[in-house]
This record gives sequence, C-alpha cells and structure tokens, in this order.
Amino acid sequence: MFSLSLRRYLALGYLVSLAQASCDNQAPLDPGRFSRIEYDYIIIGGGTAGIALSARLAEDPSLVIGVIEAGTSHAEDPLVDIPSSSVVGNATYDWNFVSTSQRHAQGRRVSLPRGKMLGGSSGINGLAWGRASKPEYDSWSVLSGDGTWSWKGLLPYMQKAENFSAVPTNPYPGISGGQKARVSHDIPQEDGYNGPIHASYNSVYFQVVSAVVETLNGLGVKTNAEPQSGDATGVFNTLVSVDREEGVRSYAASTYYCSRIANRNYRVLTDAMVTKILFAKSEGPLTAIGVEFSANGQLFNVFAKKEVVLAAGAVQTPQLLELSGIGNRTLLQSHGITTLVDLPGVGENLQEHLFSGVQFKLKQGIQTFDLLRSDPAFAAEQRQIYQSTRGGLLAATDNAFTFLSLKGLVSEDRLHELLALFDLEDHTKSTGPLLRKQNALNRRWFTEDNVATVELIQLSRGIFNPTPNSSYVTIQGGIVHPSSRGSVHITTQDAFVAPEIDPAFLSRDFDTEVLLDIIKYIQLVAQTEPLASMVEEQTDPVPDSADDEIIRYIRAGSGVCDEMVHGTAAMASREDGGVVDGSLRVHGTANLRVVDASIIPIQMACHTQQTVYAIAEKAADMIKNQHIKPKYSG
Ligand SMILES: Cc1cc2nc3c(=O)[nH]c(=O)nc-3n(C[C@H](O)[C@H](O)[C@H](O)COP(=O)(O)OP(=O)(O)OC[C@H]3O[C@@H](n4cnc5c(N)ncnc54)[C@H](O)[C@@H]3O)c2cc1C
Repeated sequence: MFSLSLRRYLALGYLVSLAQASCDNQAPLDPGRFSRIEYDYIIIGGGTAGIALSARLAEDPSLVIGVIEAGTSHAEDPLVDIPSSSVVGNATYDWNFVSTSQRHAQGRRVSLPRGKMLGGSSGINGLAWGRASKPEYDSWSVLSGDGTWSWKGLLPYMQKAENFSAVPTNPYPGISGGQKARVSHDIPQEDGYNGPIHASYNSVYFQVVSAVVETLNGLGVKTNAEPQSGDATGVFNTLVSVDREEGVRSYAASTYYCSRIANRNYRVLTDAMVTKILFAKSEGPLTAIGVEFSANGQLFNVFAKKEVVLAAGAVQTPQLLELSGIGNRTLLQSHGITTLVDLPGVGENLQEHLFSGVQFKLKQGIQTFDLLRSDPAFAAEQRQIYQSTRGGLLAATDNAFTFLSLKGLVSEDRLHELLALFDLEDHTKSTGPLLRKQNALNRRWFTEDNVATVELIQLSRGIFNPTPNSSYVTIQGGIVHPSSRGSVHITTQDAFVAPEIDPAFLSRDFDTEVLLDIIKYIQLVAQTEPLASMVEEQTDPVPDSADDEIIRYIRAGSGVCDEMVHGTAAMASREDGGVVDGSLRVHGTANLRVVDASIIPIQMACHTQQTVYAIAEKAADMIKNQHIKPKYSG
C-alpha cells in the first residue's frame, strides 16, 4: 500500500543490521546435495504458507522436510525490513505478473505483484494484519462441506500465528479508554500472543487520520476497537505485521524460517524453480513421488516418501498443477500434456479485490507522508530518528481502514437497484455450482450489516501525480466481494513462461456500479466536517464528474488493484468445480496437497496474510496428525 522510493531517503550503508542474527549470511544450499536427500515432505514454494507450514512440520524431528523456493533470501535487506519501504515492481523481489488486456477496463493490462523471495508475498506486502468477519469463514464449511473450516475452526490457528502487542495503544477517536488499552482481561480478547508474526499498532499518526475517522463516525460508521473479534466492519486502526521494538517487517522468512534454520531435518533450497510434480506409474489413485526442479541451469529430481505440498501461491499453484497433468483435459491436450486427473476447476474461480481512488489536495501546512517526498531536511531527520529509535515515519504505515456493508454504503432504493442488477447477472451469466453457491452467500451478505462488501483505505499521501510541496489524502475504495470471476492458465509447457492471468475485472456491471457508489461516497466523506475543512481541492477524478465520467475513470484505471488473488485451486467438492477437499488434498490424488491462498473458496473482506498463515498452521496440524495414513481423495 505505502510506497516510498526508499533509496532516495535512506543511505543504505548507514544502517545497522536489521535481521535476526541466526538468519544472517546463510550459505545457499547446493541443489545437487539437496536433491540427494530423501524427504518425507517436499513443499513447493517458500512463501507465506510454504514457510509457515514447513517450519511447523520441522518441529517433529522424525520428519525430514525439504522446501524449494524460486526466489532468494533477503534476510537483512532494509528494502524488505523497513516498514515504509516498498519493493513492489522491483524484479529482484517481485514476479511482476501482468493481467491479460482487460476488456471491461479499457484494454489495460493490470499489474499483479507477487513476492519472489524467501517468505513470498509476506516479504513485499503492505503489512496490514487483519481478519474477515465470522460469517465469511463459516461460509468455507458450506462451500467445502467440511465443518472444521469455519471461524471457530480457524481462530485458534490465526491466534497461533500471531504475537499481538498492546503497546503502543490504539489512539483512534470513537474508542473508549478501556478498549484503547486492550490489555484489560474484562475485554474479550481474540488476539494471539505467542505466535511468530508480530502484530502491532503504529506509533505515529497524522492529524488527518483523526479527521477522517471522526468524519466517518459522523456519517454513521462506528469505530471498531476489536476488528479481530469476528466483526470486521466499521472504521478501525489496522494492526500491521511489524515488530515494533525492532521497527521491522515481521514475515514468514524472518520468523518461522529463522526459528527452524538450525534444525538438521529442515532444508530450504532457494533460487530453484520447480518445473513439475512427479507421480508414480502405478494403478490406483495418483501418487506424488517428488518434483523436478531447475537450478543453476540444470534439471534435478528430488523425492518425497510421504507427500508433496504445493504452496506456490494463487498464480503458480494452478500453473504447476496444469504443467503436471492435473487440470482441464481439453486445455492440457491443447498444450500436449497428458491428463492425469481431469479437473476443470484448476485455475478457475480467480477472485481479486478491485480498487479505485479519489485524491484530495490538503490545505497548506497539513502534514502527511508527502513531506518525505518534498522536504529533504525533514526526510533526513526521519532517517536519523529511524536510526536511533527504530521509530518515526520510516517505521509507520497508513492505518485507517474502513469496511462497510453494501446496505451501509447506499440508500435503500439504490440497494434494491443494485440487488436487481446482481440477480439479473446471476441468472443470465452465472455458470457452475460453485459460483451459484458463492452468489447465494454474497446476495445474503449484501443485505446484512455484519459482512463488508466495500473497503476504504485512507492514505495520508498523494498517489496520482502529486505536485511538489503539497500534501494529500487519498481514499482508495474497493469492492471486496466482487461478482466478476477470472482465471489463470498455462499457455505453454514451459514452466518459465508466466501463465495467462485474466481477472476479468468489471466483467459484471454490478461491480462497476458498486465502484461508482464507492467513489461518490468517498467524495461525500471529503465534503463532510471535520475533514472538509482540511481539503483544498479534489484532484482525481475531476470534481463534479457525471456518473458516466466516473465510470470511465474507473475503467481507465486511475484505480489500483489490491493484490489479493485467491481461489484458483478452490476448496470445494469435485462436482462443484473444486480442486482440493477439506484436507487440502487435490481431488483424484493420494498425497498431493495445496496449502496457500489458492484454496480460499470465496473472496474475503480483509487483507489475507493472517488467513493464509492460519491455513498453513491448520494444514501443519492436519498433516502431523494424518501422515501415517495417506488417504485417497476421490
Ligand atoms: C503487493 C502485495 C501487497 C499485499 N498487501 C497485503 C496486506 O497489506 N495485508 C495482507 O494481509 N495481505 C496482503 N497481501 C496478500 C498476502 O500477502 C497474500 O495473500 C499471501 O502472502 C499469499 O501467500 P501464499 O503463500 O499464498 O503465496 P506467496 O506468499 O506468494 O508464496 C508463494 C511462493 O512460491 C514461490 N514459487 C512460485 N512458483 C514457484 C516454483 N515454480 N518453484 C518454486 N517456488 C515457486 C514464490 O516465489 C513465492 O515465494 C498483499 C500481497 C501483495 C502481493
């Protein structure tokens, strides 16, 4: 979310070491030696889920765990560690995927960043740490047919991943003193306190943040002091995955991985690309025996006695399934790949949050992150503060997040209009049982208060061509339960060629119309006190635009995409178009699982890293408990 060109502000050599000592200067493993070890479990992808899962499995000394990661380790890298830094778009850290030309978004190709490094997207993400609302997790049990995938079933794992720090406290307007502290045991606490990932509040807030929160309160949006409690609606001070004492990003590689690095039963190979999964040539359910990978320009095979786990993320997990012969038979045949399991759901059901935004120039003298851009002396002072205290603006992020139900966004009449449009498109365009089940859930949520359809992110800075010496507030608004569905599929047998990603943005008019309402709502927020008194002018889109001009603005792409690709190996029954069952095994296989964001069956009204860590934590327990008896998933 927050992107500073850090190199401009930071003298890199000036920094002391930021990483945990135990993770520094690890010599990369030799791929040949790695391949000669026989593992119990091989995990493809050392990203958010892959590292969390593998580190938990390695707690059992009787298991030998191998992880293969395409990217490299960035331990001790300030561009990753410093919270205000961003490496999105930098090919050293980011796969830099782009979508196909989007027909309903004026043909633009939308950038879809994904982390290419040890720790995966947890190393490049915007640090927001949160959960969706309870009914959204409960819907997973409806879609998967497995009752353990629910709020109750996942909460212990979200807590297991989390190390919540109540200091500094939450200073947001609209929160009572007791709730602010969040340390009293009288208050229901849903946070986790002993997990690897640090979750903390910011220590610096701009005046404009309070103004936005108070304005929203005045418009009837409550401040939510406990957004982790199962009700994630309202405006709240988002937690961030920052180790506040050290002032650094807390992510899969710096925590889960570092804690296990000395284990002799844990081997993590970086800079190695898995090219396909290997299967036994026996009768019966398909049994994975290992993987083929490429490193230093050479191909290697490595073998697993028990299971292979795919954790390559929502773009590359379906790619590897298809390259390995699991997917839609017609598609595989067209690329000369023998079908081992005909599973048409692979790569389908792609869901992504789509955002647009409105930028406002603020009156002279109001401070925002823009000062780092336009005032070199101020930026130097902030670097100094970071050096000496690990605090200040370089350790800070944007924090005011608002999640609104659809009925909280629009009038009753407009809600009826939108629902009629949703129903029409559902009847005329929806195909497949999974989508119909998702639509039934979404349709209900649109009329209720406790699940958000809309997210607003307040950024204390300009992002659309900000001018020097000016300060801005930008409010991004997105639809977090979109009705458009996209896909990701291979176009060749070559694992090094990125798959074709088509999010089908705005392919449903419902999504476009809701985004229109979101832009209008943001404009209303800026015209309402106390924020109105701080705003000098709206810069983007042009103020007082007619509806059709705003829609053109949305399609033309001043908006941004929110990097939450999900659902491309959905946890749902085979008949419904799912790819994995409730134990995360790929349908039609004996011992191949998917553990990453691909399995999330329906888009969530939250930022998903905590949910992905919880999936990995739950999978680790399932695997530890079940590995003795591999079971056929039909
Ligand atoms: C730019 C950005 C900002 C985000 N901001 C937030 C935020 O603020 N808050 C939040 O909660 N969530 C955020 N997210 C989402 C969140 O980070 C992801 O949902 C989550 O990290 C996904 O985890 P994963 O394990 O599914 O995939 P990843 O963490 O992406 O892991 C996949 C790993 O597999 C590796 N890999 C892929 N193919 C191969 C192969 N063939 N061989 C070997 N390795 C391979 C990749 O290099 C990568 O390391 C953001 C995501 C992005 C990209």
